[in-house]
Amino acid sequence: MKNAIYPGTFDPITNGHLDIINRARLLFDNITVAVTNNPHKAPLFSIEDRIEMIANAITELKCDNVTIDSFEGLLVDYVRRQGAIAIVRGLRATSDFEFEFQMALANRKLAADVVTVFLMPHERYTYLNSTIVKELSRYGAKIEGFVSSFVARKLKEKMKQK
Ligand code: ADP
Repeated sequence: MKNAIYPGTFDPITNGHLDIINRARLLFDNITVAVTNNPHKAPLFSIEDRIEMIANAITELKCDNVTIDSFEGLLVDYVRRQGAIAIVRGLRATSDFEFEFQMALANRKLAADVVTVFLMPHERYTYLNSTIVKELSRYGAKIEGFVSSFVARKLKEKMKQK
């Protein structure tokens, strides 16, 4: 079995993330979407909420080789614990490159046998990220096409609470 980990904050999951999951699941036997508990990012949604939104989106994909998890600590340690062979990351524009390159090299230094695979989403998602979606939602702008209707509803509820 060739398993890969797709780590990220997913705050919340967007159609860009889903595009990457869809491409990755054709390459590996199983993809684990692993939500990171990164306190420095001060996420809007709790881990539980983020997992719920990913689960809902994945149900709509109707595939059986995508699982969801969360983790803390070093990514490569988690990858090893899961018996995975690869880390999947999305590359949108050159702006992603510097950071992703550093991360991939650091992870390779720590675990030479774990490969980082970069996948490019459809160009319609090149400028999409969770931060933009949250900003648009904060001001009541339309976010259809960027996130699932379930995520759009969750964002609306969250912004009302704020
Ligand atoms: P992180 O804090 O780990 O960057 P994100 O949820 O922002 O978490 O992103 C997780 C991964 O998904 C990253 O590899 C990122 O480049 C990728 N990603 C985010 N948005 C998109 C998108 N619109 N298209 C393709 N990949 C994306």
